[in-house]
Amino acid sequence: MPAPQDRSPAPLLLVIEDDDTIGRHLDTGLRSHGYDTTWRRTGGDGLAAADAAPPDVVLLDLGLPDVDGIDVARELRSRHPDVLLVILTARTDEIDVIAGLDAGADDYLVKPFTLSVLLARLRAHLRRLPAAAGHGDRETMYQAGAFALDTRARRCLLGDVEVVLRPKEFDLLAVLARHIGAAVSREDLMAQVWDENWFGPTKTLDVTLASLRRRLAQAGAEARPPVEPPGITTLRGYGYRLEADGG
Ligand code: CA
Repeated sequence: MPAPQDRSPAPLLLVIEDDDTIGRHLDTGLRSHGYDTTWRRTGGDGLAAADAAPPDVVLLDLGLPDVDGIDVARELRSRHPDVLLVILTARTDEIDVIAGLDAGADDYLVKPFTLSVLLARLRAHLRRLPAAAGHGDRETMYQAGAFALDTRARRCLLGDVEVVLRPKEFDLLAVLARHIGAAVSREDLMAQVWDENWFGPTKTLDVTLASLRRRLAQAGAEARPPVEPPGITTLRGYGYRLEADGG
């Protein structure tokens, strides 16, 4: 996804939310902070609006009147691979957050949340986008056994299978790979993958890491011949370590 400033001075933001109060609050609040905002109340109208004018960011309520928000997330991700997709949920059950992230969301906010928290989260994401393409003179290739990661091309290979990862999963794996064989603290991971000023729940890290492990395990099983995915060891109370022996 190009940096918003390369495309237009104001990031194009689509709100899909059926609740009048929340929708209006987001629409006017985000507008007043420089976002070019469109508000739709149903999943169908939201998808149509995204097709008509592909947004930089979508804020998607999961509880919609016409269709399941998870299905809308999946559809948005498939039609607009580069969009920054943030799901909004009143559901406190972790399973909904996981389903949303698995459907392609990059991040989530649990209602109620304040506009300033949302704005901070958006700033963090949008600031990181240009940097996501590469890290200058840092090393860009990592290999351990059948596992290979090319951060410049943003490709991950496990045996003969290309592992399809969401942006945050890739970024997380890239930070761990940069320190392969060494422990990386939760704080460092949050700072490097999300934002140095992150103040949200670090549960996002665990959810993303669990999803990353699942995708690596699945890709390893699909490889011919099957290969062991790289081991990511949980260091309780500290962080994670990508094992140099390939798992
Ligand atoms: Ca709703």
